[in-house]
Formats: sequence, structure tokens, C-alpha cells
Amino acid sequence: MTEDGKKIENVIIVGGGPAGYTAALYTARANLEPLVFEGFQWGGQLQNTTDVENYPGYPEGIMGPEMMNQFRAQAERFGTRFVSDDVDRVELSDGGVQKVYLGDEEHLAKTVILAMGAEPRRLGVPGELELSGGGVSTCGVCDGAFFKDRKVIVIGGGDSAMEDAIFVSKFATELAIVNRREEFRASKIMKARAEEQPNISFKTPFVAEEFVGGENGKLDHVRLKNAETGESEDFPVEGAFIAIGHIPKSEIVDGQVGTDEDGYILVEGDSTRTNLAGVFAVGDVVDHTYRQAVTAAGSGCKGALDAEWYLRDTPPSPEAHWQRGGEPVEVAPTPGG
Ligand code: NAP
Repeated sequence: MTEDGKKIENVIIVGGGPAGYTAALYTARANLEPLVFEGFQWGGQLQNTTDVENYPGYPEGIMGPEMMNQFRAQAERFGTRFVSDDVDRVELSDGGVQKVYLGDEEHLAKTVILAMGAEPRRLGVPGELELSGGGVSTCGVCDGAFFKDRKVIVIGGGDSAMEDAIFVSKFATELAIVNRREEFRASKIMKARAEEQPNISFKTPFVAEEFVGGENGKLDHVRLKNAETGESEDFPVEGAFIAIGHIPKSEIVDGQVGTDEDGYILVEGDSTRTNLAGVFAVGDVVDHTYRQAVTAAGSGCKGALDAEWYLRDTPPSPEAHWQRGGEPVEVAPTPGG
């Protein structure tokens, strides 16, 4: 409790994807009674995913939204409380009371676990969203196996595009990597690996103008425009993987915790500790590279343990009067504070 009787939570988790729900499960089982701001569209990227076949423990596969339901229910079973709304802003402190706001409604906590995730960068062209799940995908590793013996394209020229192409080419008959310029951002080794695959070709410099569905409602062709000549052509494919990068959802902590130039939250070494004591970051909002449900869940577990250890080992800040019935406690000032 604060001096004016306001409750201070042990832990607030911001984000309702695999990372946030796993952090909730672990902190709930540690009797920390987590409060999760899971967002209005809780479930994260899995909410827009159909079959998930690569999450261990589901030998028959599971639909993405159903899997998130189960993650959520498991965290709830141990006392997690959920708020299905988007956090408007936070006021984070270095070792003091953390503040999370829904509009003017203030929530206080000793620790915060940031698990807001990332979203795939989109092209913003017609048909892209409408045919999502109907042939247009933003995750080769997730959906590649559904394109056995099909002709597909991968759009992008970075390492993700190469990785998606190499993975998907194991299933597809033909795969073209479509890049908007002749030069590729991908590392030499990844590009070389893609070139080694006999069924991968390169189509440059082209941009996708539109994804067009057929009578069956599935992707029929992509309208591609030559970026130099301006000429358009219809390119028949059954699958299109968009791999042009991700955008971490770190706006609400912008300028408060350390991030890299792309907006991913920086953590200390192999931990989930940010540059602010008591503030932890987990899942895709930290992860440039792996971005799988299972890696996000693992990261959420680490965040929960880091928060638990912090609460166990850190004396309360002089600003935080959460002990002894709300009476201020005598503690040594923190270095620099
Ligand atoms: P990235 O390196 O930022 O590359 C994005 C690619 O998408 C670039 O080719 C870019 O073209 C293109 N692009 C961006 N916006 C576009 C648009 N509107 N239309 C068409 N093309 C567009 O992103 P990433 O490939 O996701 O990689 C992110 C980081 O993860 C990198 O550091 C990468 O090395 C790392 N990664 C590593 C591995 C691995 O080593 N196995 C695997 C995956 C990712 P321009 O170049 O023209 O801007």
C-alpha cells in the first residue's frame, strides 16, 4: 500500500501473448498475484494464426487463438487477474514504484514485465490482409509446410527472407524471392544458401502491388511491378510470404527504457533485466531473431523468475511504502538515487 492507501501490485505484466501469459503463469504460481494488461486484442500474433504445428506438446497441432486461450486459462488457474485493455502509458522508475495507466486510471507495481511483442511489417497493398490465411503469410517457419508442391514467392531481401525462403523451399516446387532492388540486405552466407537451392530463383527489382484471390477465395496471383521500368505483370502463385522485417511494439516505453535503433528493448546479457531496476522485458519486443511462440514463452518464464528474484533480493525503495501496513520503511539510499 502507498501512504494514501493505494495498492501496489507485486508485478504488472504488459502484453497478452505467449511471453506475457507464461510470465503470468510463473509469477502466479510464485504467489505474486500478477495483474496482466493483455490488450484489447489479446493473444498477440497467434490470434491471427491458424494451425500451429511447431509448439511442443501439441502432436496434432492447435489453432493459434485456441492455444492462447489455453495459455490464458492456465495462468488464470493460479490467480492471474486480466485487464483486456490497452495500456495508454507508463511511468517507469529505476527501482521505485512503477506506474501503468489506462486513461487516467493509475496502477502501481513493484515490478513490471514488458511483453508487448512485435508485429510483422506490412506492405500496405490491396489483398494483403484480406488473403492473410488464404495464401498470404508473414511467417515462413509457421506456414511453409502448408505449401507442399505449390509455387510460392517470398518478398524481402534481408536474412528473414532468405531464412523463410530456404525453409519454405523444402516444401514448394518453385520459389521466387522478390526484392525491391538488385542488392540484398541479407548477409552473404544466407544469400548464398538460398542461391544453392535448385528450386529458388530471384526476381529483382520488383515490388508487390496487389495480392489477387481466385474463385476459391485463395491467393491466385500477385501483381508485381518492375521498380525500374514501372511495368506490371501478374505472377501466378498459391503462396506469398512477406518477410520485410518486424516492428517491436515498444512505443509506450519509448524514451524510458533503453532500446536499440530499431526500437527493440535492450536487456542485460542473457537476463530479462532492462536498464531500470524492477523493469523486465520479454518475448518479441526484445527478440530480433527467433520470434517463435516457444521462444517467447521461454523468455516470459525468464522474466517471471527475474522479477521474483528481484522482489526477494531488493530492499524497497524509500519512495515505495509497500511494507508494514503502509508505513515508510527505513532503507539505505540506492546508489545514485
Ligand atoms: P531487415 O534486415 O530489416 O530486412 C528487411 C528487408 O525487407 C530488406 O531487404 C528491405 O529492403 C525489405 N523491405 C522493407 N520494407 C519493404 C517494403 N515496404 N517493400 C519491399 N521490401 C521491403 O529485416 P529481417 O530480414 O527481418 O532481419 C532483421 C534482423 O534479424 C537482421 O539483423 C537479421 O540479420 C536478423 N536475422 C538473422 C537471421 C539469421 O542469421 N539466421 C535470420 C533472420 C533474421 P531494403 O534493403 O531495400 O530496405
